[in-house]
Amino acid sequence: MEEEKSGLYLIELYSSIQGETSFAGLPCSFIRLAGCNLRCTWCDTPHSFGRGEFQSFDSILHKLKEFGNKHLCVTGGEPLLQSNVIELMQQLCDQGYVVSLETGGSLSTAKVDPRVHIILDIKCPGSGMSHKNHWENLALLRPHDEIKFVVKDRTDYDFAKEVCSRYHLYAKGNHLLISPVHGLIDPKELVRWILNDHLPVRLNLQLHKYIWSPTTKGV
Ligand code: SF4
Repeated sequence: MEEEKSGLYLIELYSSIQGETSFAGLPCSFIRLAGCNLRCTWCDTPHSFGRGEFQSFDSILHKLKEFGNKHLCVTGGEPLLQSNVIELMQQLCDQGYVVSLETGGSLSTAKVDPRVHIILDIKCPGSGMSHKNHWENLALLRPHDEIKFVVKDRTDYDFAKEVCSRYHLYAKGNHLLISPVHGLIDPKELVRWILNDHLPVRLNLQLHKYIWSPTTKGV
């Protein structure tokens, strides 16, 4: 994807409520960037794989102002594939927005503005993409960043536990999010495992999939 100055290739730009993370339930504007370098087996946003439509920073900022939400979520696909996103996030933070970045965890987060809340995926084996995890990102975590494991079965859950222990994530104080793959694992089972293990993690359900249909886009 060719980069042009002061703009990004977008799939969608919309206003909704945040369905996940510690910001779940809050009004939020979503900036979904085009393209992804991963292919998770359970991917729920394959429509982000395309080229998208180029939009200038001015046009994006104008739309976000119209939406009027304080919270913004930069997501994808993989937003860090487009280097201009770094500058956009800086500008958004300068303007007083609370910005979160959802990244698949395969690319370095080193250049991300320290004010941005990084929601860092650690890919579990069931995604088929765990070999792509860029483990160095864990050393770059700031206190307000969050770590997310999407689990599809017990093997993924055990992997998440093992990673949290190996990298001392329980002691770091970051939000640790465990998400069931929608439709593949019963959240009740996941809750049972978490309670049995007394695991200090947050169950991360995707609220938007319960409010709307799991396949509805732009919500
Ligand atoms: S990183 Fe996200 S968008 Fe990319 S394949 Fe995985 S789930 Fe889909």
